[in-house]
Amino acid sequence: MEEKFCWRCDMKVKMLDDDEFKLCREAWFHGKKVVEKELEKRNIKDHVWFYKIETFEQYRYMLEMYRLITGEYESNPMAILHHQISQFGKDCPNCKKPFRTPKATYCPSCGYGSENLTKI
Ligand SMILES: [Zn+2]
Ligand SMILES: [Zn+2]
Repeated sequence: MEEKFCWRCDMKVKMLDDDEFKLCREAWFHGKKVVEKELEKRNIKDHVWFYKIETFEQYRYMLEMYRLITGEYESNPMAILHHQISQFGKDCPNCKKPFRTPKATYCPSCGYGSENLTKI
């Protein structure tokens, strides 16, 4: 997990690495038992389950998993689904915001690397 700027949310968010992202997806598909397994693995005994969530029941355990990993409650499951570090590019050497995609070669925020776009 790493805090990074997200272009879609327009703010810094907790981004997941591929393993963490996989856990969230598994929790989404397979529910409570995946979260319970992870709690056990991390030896967390005082986990307080969400009393009420503001979204569809089907996403409940994905939100639980995201909170377990990042310590933060994200109420929007669609946000979690794009907060995967590998969906973004490397950090801009100039302004430190990540490139929008792994294939991007310039930074839309500060323009770093855009001189490469004009020459072929
Ligand atoms: Zn985002
Ligand atoms: Zn930049």
